[in-house]
Amino acid sequence: IHLSKATFTLSAPDIRRLPEDTGIEVAFAGRSNAGKSSALNTLTNQNGLARISKTPGRTQLINVFEVAENKRLIDLPGYGFAKVPLEMKKKWQKALGEYLEKRDSLKGLVVLMDIRHPLKDLDMDLIQWAADSDLPVLALLTKCDKLSQGKRSAEVLKVKKALATLNADIRVQAFSSLKRTGAEQADVVICDWLAQ
Ligand code: GDP
Repeated sequence: IHLSKATFTLSAPDIRRLPEDTGIEVAFAGRSNAGKSSALNTLTNQNGLARISKTPGRTQLINVFEVAENKRLIDLPGYGFAKVPLEMKKKWQKALGEYLEKRDSLKGLVVLMDIRHPLKDLDMDLIQWAADSDLPVLALLTKCDKLSQGKRSAEVLKVKKALATLNADIRVQAFSSLKRTGAEQADVVICDWLAQ
């Protein structure tokens, strides 16, 4: 499996419009502006694959990318952006919740968090939910190029410790789309999930 083979399949406003729920999916989730689109572009080696948001909170659709037959990457709507009307926020949260709860083909969750402020309430909710559902998690601590090597390691350790209490299959990796830090490690984990 090569993530660089990813091609855009469709954008869906809700889970009913997604491709048939067969095969394997790895989903990407994170607060708006966490660096999700950039990470998808980095991991697939395709600059234009996911649109990098000029206005945070604009990605409201579930975007589907096919990597191989019945192997998909799912770009879930970003959450937690303050300047969005409550009604809209509720709609996205609902789409996100529905997807996570109902999608049988979901076999791994990549959670993107800015390394400078990880583990916000909604991040924790998501990771806790994955842990309760026995879904493996890869936590990517994004934009790590913004921290010194020392601070980076300290942040990774802090997050690892906090998540270890959940006793679940959770990996934590410092990541930078700018420098490709952690891209190789993330690629191995995601391809491993997709290859099942
Ligand atoms: P999304 O809303 O989660 O999809 O986030 P985006 O990928 O659109 O990125 C949000 C902002 O963070 C953009 O201005 C990106 O250029 C910036 N960004 C994303 N990844 C990195 C990174 O690895 N390093 C740095 N320095 N900036 C990044």
